[in-house]
Parts: sequence; structure tokens; C-alpha cells
Amino acid sequence: MGFSSALQSRAAHEALIVRQDAELRLMETMKRSIQMKAKCDKEYAISLTAVAQQGLKIDRADEMQGSLMTKSWRSYMDELDQQAKQFKLNAEQLEVVCEKLTHLSQDKRKARKTYQEEHAKIAARLNHLTDEVVRKKSEYQKHLEGYKALRTRFEEHYIKAPGRSGRKLDDVRDKYQKACRKLHLTHNEYVLSITEAIEVEKDFRTVLLPGLLEHQQSVQESFILLWRNILQEAAQHGDLTSEKYTEIQQRINTVISNINPAEEYGEFTEKHKTSPTTPLLFQFDETLIEDIPGKLQSSTLTVDNLTVDWLRTRLLDLEASVKDCQEKQLKMIEHVNGGSPKANGSIISNGSNTSNGIQSNKDSMCRQSKDLNALRCQEKQKQKLVDMIKCALNEVGCEELPSGCDDHLTLEQNFIENGYNNEQQRSNSTSSPGLGIMNELMRRGGVLTLLRGRGRHFKRKSTPQPTTPMTRSRQGRFNKMQPRSQSLGSLSLSLSTNRPLYEEEWFHGVLPREEVVRLLNNDGDFLVRETIRNEESQIVLSVCWNGHKHFIVQTTGDGHFRFEGPPFPSIQELIMHQYHSELPVTVKSGAILRRPVCRERWELSNDDVVLLERIGRGNFGDVYKAKLKSTKQDVAVKTCRMTLPDEQKRKFLQEGRILKQYDHPNIVKLIGICVQKQPIMIVMELVLGGSLLTYLRKNSNALSTRQQMGMCRDAAAGMRYLESKNCIHRDLAARNCLVDLEHSVKISDFGMSREEEEYIVSDGMKQIPVKWTAPEALNFGKYTSLCDVWSYGILMWEIFSKGDTPYSGMSNSRARERIDTGYRMPTPENTPPEMYRLMLKCWAADAESRPHFDEIYNVVDALILRLDNSH
Ligand code: ADP
Repeated sequence: MGFSSALQSRAAHEALIVRQDAELRLMETMKRSIQMKAKCDKEYAISLTAVAQQGLKIDRADEMQGSLMTKSWRSYMDELDQQAKQFKLNAEQLEVVCEKLTHLSQDKRKARKTYQEEHAKIAARLNHLTDEVVRKKSEYQKHLEGYKALRTRFEEHYIKAPGRSGRKLDDVRDKYQKACRKLHLTHNEYVLSITEAIEVEKDFRTVLLPGLLEHQQSVQESFILLWRNILQEAAQHGDLTSEKYTEIQQRINTVISNINPAEEYGEFTEKHKTSPTTPLLFQFDETLIEDIPGKLQSSTLTVDNLTVDWLRTRLLDLEASVKDCQEKQLKMIEHVNGGSPKANGSIISNGSNTSNGIQSNKDSMCRQSKDLNALRCQEKQKQKLVDMIKCALNEVGCEELPSGCDDHLTLEQNFIENGYNNEQQRSNSTSSPGLGIMNELMRRGGVLTLLRGRGRHFKRKSTPQPTTPMTRSRQGRFNKMQPRSQSLGSLSLSLSTNRPLYEEEWFHGVLPREEVVRLLNNDGDFLVRETIRNEESQIVLSVCWNGHKHFIVQTTGDGHFRFEGPPFPSIQELIMHQYHSELPVTVKSGAILRRPVCRERWELSNDDVVLLERIGRGNFGDVYKAKLKSTKQDVAVKTCRMTLPDEQKRKFLQEGRILKQYDHPNIVKLIGICVQKQPIMIVMELVLGGSLLTYLRKNSNALSTRQQMGMCRDAAAGMRYLESKNCIHRDLAARNCLVDLEHSVKISDFGMSREEEEYIVSDGMKQIPVKWTAPEALNFGKYTSLCDVWSYGILMWEIFSKGDTPYSGMSNSRARERIDTGYRMPTPENTPPEMYRLMLKCWAADAESRPHFDEIYNVVDALILRLDNSH
């Protein structure tokens, strides 16, 4: 319903006028508020500019050079300044909008006036005619009354007048006629005015007023349209979601997301990098014991009747804290794995999927891994002390005896008393206190020559010769006995020759203790070995007797050797004496020597190999091409630097210990280890192509895809074999593979290997090859064969990229971070797509989703077959 039909009444007309007045007031209000908004925006722009300027007052000094945080902040502040400018611009536009609103209000006011005038105009005529009709009607009534009176008068005269004439009658008649005419005229005028009024009213109602109202409606609507447009403009100039602002916001977001924690300190580190700080040296102050003759030796625990109880209590405490650390670690791993330490794969996949979730998941993973490392360090530190105390206790014959055993204590006291005597004797003679027997011997012209010269048959009468009824018969046994570990034909255990100790078949050199324990199986089994303690060499007799016991050979002041019994001029004679006398080595241990255990096939003598030329450099020492004297076979020999600490030497030999059990064409073969004297060495088959990494780089142009696939298959075959033996390599990489002249690849470098299904590192993660190591191993130190599968994927990548460095251009931590967020290296050029797919499978974040080596081998083998058939 429009104005024309709905708003015809007077009241509606007045309401319309009132409405327009209200609208005009609304316009005024709007104008004022838009003006205020413009002012407010301008002030905001000024404040924002000040904010940006304040923000840019940052340290321009060198310290922050290269900082992405600073760079991003600067850009952020620049964008804030842009935002301020935009606000100012918008405020100015708002002022223009205000002016428009003023004009509109003026026009509206005019339109209202025009409407009012026009309405008054058309209404005025109708009003006038209405008045006319009223006036005419009253005139009519007045004339009618006059007429009626005159007619009555005339009729009276007429009836009374004789002959119906007379002057009086004429006069009355005349007046009557005039009144009659007047009435008739008035009547007509009244009729005409009514007719006109009817017409005018009709036109007013049906034509003029609707026309005016219709026009008015359209005028008001067009005002509303303009008004709306003005409001739209005003809104646009205050729209913070407009393109201009969102562009600025997007730029702010971009500059902030450019902040990269992994790169933040790149330039800073580069600029300030220094070589690692020299370790703080904690050294025993030798001057403290200069004047104290006897037992106290620098950096060596003193085990005697005064300290043994204390040491034992301390050992118990330390072992308890090691256990505590281990339990805490286990709990932590269980917690991370969602309750089960074996819930493989869940370690890194149980986070939320939101970006915040990933971040907080990563944070908590980092925290857990840090805590885990701290616990491992603690465990390692305590373990070191445990080892030191155990070692000190063991070397006096107490290994394996439960702590607190009285029996054991007496044994030690006994033994220690002897030790005191010896020391005293030594200090009385020319020997300096604190030197172990090997040092003592060295001072007198070297261990080996000395031992060589001092080799004695046990029958020598010059030595104290305690005999028992058993002596003679046991001597025969000893001389003839075939060792279980190795058949030597005639075992030359007789001391009739003057050979040096290291040539004795039962002398095992610096064979690691784990191996010794492995060799001694039955009560009475024994061997002699060398141990280096605090850089001093000591000769140790290891015996299996209710567990394993280790006795350090003691030296007397005059260069003799003894345990509890009489001294002998050579170690061989001492051992012969113990064996033939069947007397316990120490009363307390009760250990009797029954069967010498000889060196195994792979325990070579250092003199069995001749080093020819250096072919490589390993972590522990140089690698040589060498020749085996016995067979003239060319071999590779890894040497271990003599200066390395004991623990490192043990680690070095670990490779030999592991390798000796394996026999596979794709695993480098162990020939033996030489531990009779320094430098200790590992003897292996010589693989002529050398390291696979160098080979790939040198032959990058000549390598065919078929050859590369063949290399992958060889490596998979070797790893499949290792997996079947429960061996985790932990350092699979091209640099640790060897290649022979037929491009056949052999897995090598077992220095980090472990023979376990699952191995949790507890000795820190210092030298981890981060770019080759699976995330669960990096984050939680958890190793399985599936970690080797991850490394195998990297090895494949190295083979196909012909020796490129993985994640090149990325630091270890950056690579680790990107891998954690799902990044994987792109395929190297010319890699068959199936091989790249296999790499990606090996790099599955969830270890359980990776293929095992069996499957890998089958896939690669099938691909090679397909390739061969297609040619
Ligand atoms: P480490 O385990 O001490 O790091 P590697 O096993 O890496 O030592 O050996 C160092 C280098 O010596 C290798 O890169 C390779 O060039 C060479 N090498 C090692 N073993 C052999 C071998 N059996 N045959 C030929 N070369 C070898």
C-alpha cells in the first residue's frame, strides 16, 4: 500500500510532516557522529604512527645483525605505519561523506517545504468552496425567511384590498416579487456552489491529493536511496576487513611467520663462533701424596680394610641411584608411548592435529627428550662411579661376590695386607710407589723383552717352590690340555722355552672383560690378560670360580710376581705354580686354576700382520692395507690409537666382537683382532673399492641405474641378514659401506651396533648421525631394526644422488625440525619412481609402518629382475 491511498487523511498528512522532521533530526545525529568518527580515526592514526615510531626505536647495534626476529619486527612496525596512513585516509573520506549528508539534509528540508506548500495549495480551494457552500446556504436561509414574510404580507393585503388593487397592494406586491427573485437567485447560486464544491472535492480526493502523495513517496524513497549510499560509503571507510587492511594484515602475518627459530641465530652463531671451550681439567694434585709412602695413589681408589666398608656402602647407594635413574627413564618412555614401552610408533604420532597441537606436542617431545637426556647423563655419571668402585673392588678378587659378604671382606683384608707389604718393599727399594707392574717392567727395559727374558720353567729350583702331592700329575695335565676354545694340536703351555708372556696361548692381551667372561665357563677355567687402569698396565688372572674373579698380579720390590703365596721371577712361573699347586689364588676366594683357556681363532697376535700402506682414517685410528703373515692374504687393518682412553678402546673392539659372528657376502668379514699388545687392531677382509661414499662421488658419471639398484639390493641383503640376527647397526650410511671391484656393497663399521631387538641408549647422544637417524631414536633414544630401515632410505638416497649430502644446506637441527613437521627429501635425479616410493616408505614417521629389510630386499630384487628382463 502506497502513500497515495494510505496517507490521504489530514492526520496522515500531519504524521508525514512529523516523520520528515524526525528524519531530518536523525540525519543531523548521523552527521555529528560521522564527524566524530572521522576525528577519532584521525587521532587513532596519529597514535598508531607514534606506536610504529616507538616500535622502530630498536637496537640497531651489531648484536641483532641477521636476526629474523628484528627484521620481522621492523616490517611489522612499517606495516603498522601503513595501517595508520590508511586510517587517516579513511578519516578524510569520512569527512567527505559528512558533507554529502549535509547536502542531503538540506535537499530534504526543501522537499518537505514544497510538499507542505503543494498540499496547502490544493487543500485551500476545497476549503474555500466548502466555506462558500456554507455561506450560500445561510444566505439562502436568510432570503427564504424574507421571502416568506413578504409573501404573507402580500397575501394579507391582497385579500383585504378592495378590487385587489391599490397603491399599498402594489407596493407590497413589488416587495414580494423582489424577495421572490432574490430567493431564486440565491437558490441558484447555492445550487451552483454545491455542484462546484462536489466537483472540487472529488478532484481533490481522487486526483490532486493522490498525485501529490504519490510524488511525495517517490521523493522520500529517492532520499532514502541517497541516504543509504552515504551510509554505505561511511561504513566502507571504517571497514577493517576491507582489502587494504587485510592486505596489511596478511603482510604482517607473513613477516611474523618468516621468523624461523632454526635460522634465528644462524648469522649470530656464524659471527661469534668459537672453537669449543677447552674442557675444565680436574686433576689429582700429585703433591698431596708426595710425602705419603704406601697405598694412596693419584686418581686411584684405595681399597683396604679402612675403606672397604665405606666403598661398599657407597657402591650400594650409587647402584640404587643408577637404578632409580633407569626406572625414571623407563617410566618416561612408557608415558610417552602411552603406557607401554613397546608401543612402537606411537611415540611420535600421538599428538593433536591442530597446528597448536603439533607445536605443543613438539614442545613436550623436546622437553621429554631433554629430561630423558638429563636422566641418561645422571645415570652415566653415577655408573662411572659404580664402575670405578666395582673395578677397584674386583681387581682385588671380589667380583661377583655379593656386597656385604663377610667372606669377601676377609679375603680382601688378607690380600690388601700383602699389597701393603709389597708396596713397602717397593718403596724401600728403588721403585716409586704407585706404579703398576707393567710400568715397573717397562722401566726395566720394556714389558715384552723383560717377559721374554724372564720366562722360566716352573721346575726351576731357584724360585720358592711350594709343592703339593698333586703338583706332578697336574703339570702333565696342564702341558697336554687341549683348550676348549681352540684346538691347537700340542698346546705349548710348558714353560721350558723362554718365550714372552704374550706368546702364551692362555695370555689374551687386552681382551675386553665381556669377552673374558664369555670364555670362562666352568669353575677352574682361567686365562691371563692385561688391563690398563689409570694409564697403567696391569696383568690380571681371570678365573671362573663361583662366578668370575679377577686377580691383579702383584709385584714385589725385587721384581718378582705373586698373589698371596710366594713370589716368582716371571708371571708364567707364578701361573704354573698356582695351577700345579692347586692352591687357591687367595685363601678367601678359594679359586683354583683347573683349565687354561687359550686364545680363539680370531685372537691374532699383533705380529701375525704386516702393515703395508694407510688406506683410510677411522674414528679410532688409521686403517691400513696389510698382509697376513701366515697365508699372505691381503687384509684391511683398523688400528686404535694408543692414547685413547680405555672405554674408547673397548668401544673399538666392540666392532670386532660383533663382526666375528657374522658370515654374509654383504657384511664385511672379520679375520681377527690383535689385542696382545698396542696398538690394538681389527683385521678384516680387504674391500678394494673402499668407502661407498667416496666411490659414488668419484664414479658419479659412470654409474648406471642398474648398478645403483644393485648396490641398494646388496645393502638390503646385508641388512636383512643383520636383522635376522637381531643386530641393530645404528650407523648405516654410504660412508660406512664398502664397495668391491664388482660394485658389490658390504656393510661395515659396526662401532655403534647393538645385538638387541630394541636398544635404548643411555649414554647420551653426542655423536649421533642426525640426518641418518630415525626420529624415534633421535627423540627418545629408542633403536630397533626399523631405525636402520630409516637410515637405509637415506643410504638409497645417497646412492641415487651419487654421494650428495642429505638435507644439504640444512643444519642438523633444522633437518630434524623439518622432518618432525613432515618434510621428506625430494627424489634425486633419474631415480626410478618405485625406488623413490620405497625411500618414502622407509621414512615413515611411524616406525611400524616402515617395511622390514626382508620386504625391502624383495621389492628391490623384483625391480632389478624387471629391469633386466626389459633389456
Ligand atoms: P671407523 O669405523 O673407525 O670410522 P671406518 O670403518 O669408517 O672407520 O674406516 C675408515 C676408512 O677406511 C673407510 O672409509 C674406508 O676407506 C677404509 N676402510 C675401512 N675398512 C676397510 C676395508 N675392510 N677394506 C677397505 N677399506 C677399508
